[in-house]
Amino acid sequence: MSLTVVGSIAFDAIKTPFGERERALGGSAVHFSLAASFFTEARPVGPVGDDFGEVEYEVLRRHGVVTDDIEHVDGGKTFFWRGEYEWDLNTAHTLDTQLNVFGDFAPKLSEASRDCDLLFLANIQPDLQRDVREQCRGAQLAALDSMNFWIESARESLVETISGVDMVLMNDAELRMLTEEPNLVRAAGAVRSMGPRVVIAKQGEYGAALFTEDGFFSLPAYPLETVRDPTGAGDSFAGGLMGYLDSQSGAMDDATLRRAMAYGSTLASFWVEQFGCERAESLTREAIDERYEHFKRITSIDAVASPRPTG
Ligand code: AMP
Repeated sequence: MSLTVVGSIAFDAIKTPFGERERALGGSAVHFSLAASFFTEARPVGPVGDDFGEVEYEVLRRHGVVTDDIEHVDGGKTFFWRGEYEWDLNTAHTLDTQLNVFGDFAPKLSEASRDCDLLFLANIQPDLQRDVREQCRGAQLAALDSMNFWIESARESLVETISGVDMVLMNDAELRMLTEEPNLVRAAGAVRSMGPRVVIAKQGEYGAALFTEDGFFSLPAYPLETVRDPTGAGDSFAGGLMGYLDSQSGAMDDATLRRAMAYGSTLASFWVEQFGCERAESLTREAIDERYEHFKRITSIDAVASPRPTG
């Protein structure tokens, strides 16, 4: 099985009440690929500029991420995002977005990336998402994320892109904004009527909700005492979820989707413990599985107290 993702590859300037970074490796495709790498081989697609060097490639390669479809643009500058969080870590305040090399990027995927089984259209300009969707016609499962920036600036294109995927994962506020529907159940229904069979609403520290034809499932976030930086929580959630689905041969029944959500939440819980994607460095599959098992025990309605893993 293989997993291709198109999305931003970025340098982020991040400030939270617990610290700041001026130039952290980030971007939706980077967070996603690193999280998915604990389950499968991920292939990010996107451009970078001259400021993206061996150090950054090495972070990806150390995790087995295949970097063949990262396109170096001579003389260009990598996508840049500046964001800030206040005490309410659920809301990112965007202070600056510089598309740079994404401005006139035309994706040309390698054969291996085009032949993927699973495809994730991470947060980026919806025309680019659709272009990649069209190049990966054989993918058995295609999913998409987006954000307010694109709903405001490219809504029509986003709706067209959504109509070509099987699953949408978006923040609940953005699902409401996209559909102009204040009720989340109706908003999810409105997105499903655009084409996708499955909608997953990400709800920050409150968890995530799954909407399918027959099913509804809600999962809280893993209860953490230390959250330093929520950047990448959504993308690592998606990376864990899609990585797990890839490891299950792309199964999309409700039971597999529920487990995939719990893996996604587990990955996101590790991500927010440190800045950007720094937590990936010391993370292991064993630690992920241990936290996943604990999460499963404590979220059962029949659960009794269960000790927390120490890792
Ligand atoms: P999230 O997982 O939702 O916290 O996404 C975090 C990542 O989104 C950051 O690493 C940013 O580089 C990236 N990002 C921010 N704004 C945009 C945008 N308009 N398009 C694509 N990626 C973005």
